[in-house]
Amino acid sequence: MAIEWSEFTKNNLSKINELKKNFFNDNSFIIKKAREEREEILKLPDTPFKISNVNIPKKELIKYASTYWVYDKVIDKLDELSGSYLIEWTNNNLTNKIYIKCKPPKIENIKNRLNILIKVINRIQLKSKKKLGIELYLVLSNLKKKLGNTNEIGPKHVNSGYTDTRDNYIFIWREEEFEKVSFHELIHFFDMDHRDENYKHDHVHEDSLYEAITDFKAIFYNIIYISLCTKKSLITLFNLELTFIFNQAKMMNNNINNGSKLISPVYAYFVLKALLFNYINNLNQTNFEENWSEIFIKNENFDKLINKIKQTNLELNKKYYNFNSARMTSLELL
Ligand SMILES: [Zn+2]
Repeated sequence: MAIEWSEFTKNNLSKINELKKNFFNDNSFIIKKAREEREEILKLPDTPFKISNVNIPKKELIKYASTYWVYDKVIDKLDELSGSYLIEWTNNNLTNKIYIKCKPPKIENIKNRLNILIKVINRIQLKSKKKLGIELYLVLSNLKKKLGNTNEIGPKHVNSGYTDTRDNYIFIWREEEFEKVSFHELIHFFDMDHRDENYKHDHVHEDSLYEAITDFKAIFYNIIYISLCTKKSLITLFNLELTFIFNQAKMMNNNINNGSKLISPVYAYFVLKALLFNYINNLNQTNFEENWSEIFIKNENFDKLINKIKQTNLELNKKYYNFNSARMTSLELL
């Protein structure tokens, strides 16, 4: 089957290509890590899955949508999404469930790449120490990530979902970037986000390093996923995506400098994550393995790490292109 880009990717890919810089090459450590991880994913067997039409009670969705991290306008969108599906499979004796509410043509597109999506999810699940079946709700509304007219930036502009680590479910409420967001929330779900329960953050804490790390990992898996779906090279995809990510970091940095009030960890999602990519990509061989494991495997001294990351130079005050979007990725399939 032909793989098609999403509207956003289709409309902006030539612009991103024009802005593109070659941050990564064959010798880049991140590329090597991504290749290793892609190999591990490809080694996994195809998983049989079941997809069925189910009734997802509206009351339940309204309950999940009634929290700080969800733009309540999504509740008005529920009736437009006439398809309700359940995808079920087992991985390592754990039962995973994805409930999807969407327009019916969308599920056909998802089915075309479901085999690969499940493999990437299985890989993340197998890497986690937490043995827990997934319960993921995808409400694929057409609400877009955009900055508003007020000077506030919060959940309705940049967030797409949340993970409830007490009741063990994930709720995602936009179609835009939903696969990348699923990877992001799964990193939280499986405690692979380096969140430190003792380290007090409020919603806006600029140094929510764990949110930057979580989105770094989500971007990493999203690029591998796109590469598996499209057969495009990891280097090409990383260079395109990082061009977009660095652009969006400059855009957000500019908004923050102009006094935008942050009511969500926007600095971490956009700026700190971009600095983290830049920091890692500029390490030498000896520092790389040590830092990679410090950031991605061990929980170490966050404050020290944040200071190191912030010293990396990304020319955040330079000019950027206005994509009229508060997306965190540019690469998405239809
Ligand atoms: Zn998060």
